[in-house]
Amino acid sequence: MDTYEIAVVHGDGIGPEVCQAAIDVLKATSISNALTFVEYPAGANHYLKSGTAFPDETYEGCKRADAILHGAAGLPGVTYPDGTETGIEFGLQLRFRLDLYANVRPIKLRPGVTSRLRDRKPGDIDYVILRENTEGLYAARGNGVNLRDEMAVDSLVITRKGTERICRAAFELARKRNGAPGDGKKRVTVCDKANVLRTYAFFRKIFNEVAEQYPDIEADYAYADAMTVHLLERPEHYDVIVMENMFGDIMSDLAAATVGSMGMSPSSELGDNNGFFQAAHGSAPTIAGQNVANPYGTILSAASMLQWLGERHSDKRLITAAGQIQRSVEAAMTAPSGLTRDLGGKASTSGVTQLVVQGLSRGALHAAE
Ligand code: ATP
Repeated sequence: MDTYEIAVVHGDGIGPEVCQAAIDVLKATSISNALTFVEYPAGANHYLKSGTAFPDETYEGCKRADAILHGAAGLPGVTYPDGTETGIEFGLQLRFRLDLYANVRPIKLRPGVTSRLRDRKPGDIDYVILRENTEGLYAARGNGVNLRDEMAVDSLVITRKGTERICRAAFELARKRNGAPGDGKKRVTVCDKANVLRTYAFFRKIFNEVAEQYPDIEADYAYADAMTVHLLERPEHYDVIVMENMFGDIMSDLAAATVGSMGMSPSSELGDNNGFFQAAHGSAPTIAGQNVANPYGTILSAASMLQWLGERHSDKRLITAAGQIQRSVEAAMTAPSGLTRDLGGKASTSGVTQLVVQGLSRGALHAAE
């Protein structure tokens, strides 16, 4: 039987709690025997202990593993002398060094969850943000200039190769989906500021070149400032949205808030050779250690990990298990005790995890009947 090694990096704040929740769920699936978990340190707490936020052994372990599962990393007060955070070094460096160029962030209003947007029901909001993950403004991380403490500059990097591959990934994804909830049309929207900066105009030019190769899919356009309004007023219009790295970071937080909470949104960061899976949220230090963090985003990221591994290795067992987790999460969310505080409920992190685990064992019993 094929087995898969999962590199696990718990991280900081709520990271270890939500990561453990995902591991407990993975261990309750039908393919638990095919997974081995190997833990590696990284993040702000590790920086405080050792002077490095991302040890070489952790990088090598992540690179070697079949997939990487992460909680969240970073603590606001733990910074380098230049003021930037140490803990997020892990995620950022991993993206750059493993070339994890496609950050896939599904935004879906699920049954049982109430949107902050009036009159929106499950099914009304169902789109994917595809965030370019290796270039853009964040490519300047660690390379910007602070001159005499009087002036600071960071550069926005857009390349043809980087933009072509993320736009192509967006159109390929749209082909596999069912279209926008509002009108059923398969649509890819580019979100940029092409009206202001050359970099974004270049991004849009390449988007248009790629769009010509996908005549079956509607190409759509929005400036990032207007997009913050569109995502609140007409989320049903969107199917796949592609954007530069920093816009993707900001826009996906806003989008997550429309489908319940930051804690709901899974995320997959994919390159040609590696996959990195964590929820879209950060380490939320103010609620850490209280057993109140919402683990659904990380649990759903673990399901995406199994789906990705299954497709990559043509291993149906993993794809089946990914579906089991998805269904068990949806059942848990509609249960009376299935909502955490951020979703308006009273459930704990461990309570929700137990519900998902119980759902998986019930599913296994049904399958055996
Ligand atoms: P980063 O920049 O590292 O992504 P962030 O600045 O976006 O982090 P988060 O740590 O994600 O910030 O927190 C944003 C808000 O969402 C906070 O109010 C936090 O408590 C809340 N939050 C984030 N994740 C969760 C979660 N899993 N469960 C409940 N609330 C959460």
